[in-house]
Amino acid sequence: QTPTRYQVVDMEMIHRIYKPRLPFSHKGTYGHALLIAGSYGKIGAAVLSAQACLHAGVGLLTVYVPECGYNIIQSTVPPAMCLVDDGGQQSVQFHEAVTADGQGKYKTVAIGPGLGTSGDTAKAFEKLLQRYHDPMVIDADALNILGAERYLLEQVPKHSLLTPHPKEFERMFGPSGNDVERLEKLSAAAQQYSLYILLKGRYTAIATPEGQVYFNNTGNAGMATGGSGDVLTGLLAGILAQGYSPEHTMILGVWLHGLAGDLGAAAMSQEALTASGIVRFIGPAYLEIA
Ligand code: AMP
Ligand code: MG
Repeated sequence: QTPTRYQVVDMEMIHRIYKPRLPFSHKGTYGHALLIAGSYGKIGAAVLSAQACLHAGVGLLTVYVPECGYNIIQSTVPPAMCLVDDGGQQSVQFHEAVTADGQGKYKTVAIGPGLGTSGDTAKAFEKLLQRYHDPMVIDADALNILGAERYLLEQVPKHSLLTPHPKEFERMFGPSGNDVERLEKLSAAAQQYSLYILLKGRYTAIATPEGQVYFNNTGNAGMATGGSGDVLTGLLAGILAQGYSPEHTMILGVWLHGLAGDLGAAAMSQEALTASGIVRFIGPAYLEIA
């Protein structure tokens, strides 16, 4: 393990990373993402994530939800296709989705928002990890499953993107005495498992497998509201699907997410900002790069 190096994300870095769209491109150029999210009472998490993924610029999006989410996804996210699990109110066989249509159909898989943590869902997640070997985006309940079944961490595809908030981080890697200790633990875990792990908060920290930690300083307390993290997951999936490297996806995604929150708060106050409001300002955040 190498000593951790720290760096702050700035506009110059974003300019280096950002790739404008090509005039002669088509939807195939920008990747097909599969988003596995939602359970009864939490289909909203899938909706927010899906909307953010589309606003990120993904070419095609398929959302995988339990049966109770089908009509909701189809009517609230018209650009997305929808695959349904017939296992009731939670998704329990989504592992089939990545192979049924042939390997390689999905450029990116994102899993977790509102997913639930039932035993059958955990089993399906384990099977997914056995079948899908490209970097994926893992958030929320999928992280909670990893926290409960620690041996699964070894099976997560190398260079995947994990997006815990401090509570989820603690469930996965145990408690820390203070912030410095937690950052060291974050960097150590990213190096040990070859993962990109970001620790969400006021200054989100992004740890790389090479022992680098980036700090992001866009964002504000208006984003302390339900669904903010689900928006980030969709945004990251949409950026990764477009062919950005996992490292560039993390930096650009976290920065855009915070900036969308800042522009949203400037337009409607921190208090009135909601996760849907963050989605609405992803576009204006992209415009700040140009
Ligand atoms: P989650 O807890 O999964 O919904 O994620 C919350 C998201 O909102 C993360 O991306 C956080 O970085 C962001 N967020 C929450 N509170 C703040 C804050 N006080 N300042 C800046 N960003 C925040
Ligand atoms: Mg969350």
